Amino acid sequence: MAIEQTFSIIKPNAVKKNVLGNIVEQFESNGLKIAACKLSLISKSKCEEFYAEHKARPFFGELVAFMTSGPVLLMVLSGENAVLKNREIMGATDPKKATVGTIRAKFGDSMGENAVHGSDSPTSAAREIALFFERNEIVNL
Ligand code: GDP
Repeated sequence: MAIEQTFSIIKPNAVKKNVLGNIVEQFESNGLKIAACKLSLISKSKCEEFYAEHKARPFFGELVAFMTSGPVLLMVLSGENAVLKNREIMGATDPKKATVGTIRAKFGDSMGENAVHGSDSPTSAAREIALFFERNEIVNL
């Protein structure tokens, strides 16, 4: 299996809980490495572009308001099978349904405030990474 990259966001509720180290530790101990990382506030327009596929969903406004409500940690994660591995480490979208020990089970508060984002495919990962990182901000691992 070739090395893959995926895009990760530690969402505002998890940043506020001061658990960045704990979450990063879960990525690292499962074989993912940080290839790029920045703490940032996302603008409303960038957030709407990022979540464009959800534009028609009833929760879209709430989702954008939450994701722009405070700082987030934006990351490119690198490793074997990184997209799927990250989804497994995160757990199900709804923290109440997430497997015990996953990030969303530990730190998610609700369906919306579910602590982390992770790309759902290599194609999404490439689009999402390009939205938030310049090529020269990403190291080759
Ligand atoms: P993910 O790939 O597991 O993040 O899930 P989706 O792609 O289905 O949804 C994207 C994000 O939209 C989720 O991570 C949630 O933050 C948010 N979301 C999904 N469903 C709901 C919902 O019913 N209500 C609210 N408020 N947010 C939701």
